[in-house]
Amino acid sequence: MGDNVSYISIAIDGPAGAGKSSVSKSLAFKLGFVYVDTGAIYRSIAYTAIKLGLDTKVDTEKIAELANKSTVDIKYIDGVQHIFVDGDDVTDYIRTPEVSKGASDVSAIPAVRDALLFIQRNIADNNNVIMDGRDIGTVVLPDATVKIFLTASIKNRAERRYKEMTEKGVECNLDEIMAEISYRDEQDSNRPVAPLKPAPDSVVFDNSDYNFEQSVDFLYNIIKEKC
Ligand code: C5P
Repeated sequence: MGDNVSYISIAIDGPAGAGKSSVSKSLAFKLGFVYVDTGAIYRSIAYTAIKLGLDTKVDTEKIAELANKSTVDIKYIDGVQHIFVDGDDVTDYIRTPEVSKGASDVSAIPAVRDALLFIQRNIADNNNVIMDGRDIGTVVLPDATVKIFLTASIKNRAERRYKEMTEKGVECNLDEIMAEISYRDEQDSNRPVAPLKPAPDSVVFDNSDYNFEQSVDFLYNIIKEKC
């Protein structure tokens, strides 16, 4: 009986800093869906590789091996996604600029992507989800009920990220944020496997001129029309 249940999945792809995670969290709350941040999975492998002293750009074989032998789990604690590698909760360590860059490096390794695909599909097979990432609509959930490609100008994305970090009390520099986002845009869009690009059947939404509430409302209406 349970096998016939079909769940709704909303794919939200787009470049770094477009607001995917905050918008997706809010939409998931409004819809009562599970929010899945897939970037955290790549970040957890990058963090583990860096901790082991590996170079995320160079040690591709060792990192592929690491992704294959590690057990990566997503669990929800008080409604918040936590990510575990071999039983250790690494959630608090994966948001540094070094891990951001490393995540982009490791995510370009085909064997790493293969190793992490099952965990993402498994969640969508068992829940109504809003999943954000780079290749959700193109590779992970090609049959997603709704596909959104959320983007904004690079200047806009860097300024938002700067404001967000400054508000959290994290010292940062706008030029460095801009450089990190450009590095990831370039690498994520041009890699041969699962490059960042809108799925042909996605709704492309440039939210440069929208505030957070307007973006959420716009997407909520699109989702409601299609579900
Ligand atoms: O979304 P977030 O910025 O946390 O993702 C970190 C990095 O992980 C991205 O720059 C991208 O290289 C990679 N990623 C990916 N595919 C996904 C999600 C993230 O390649 N579905």
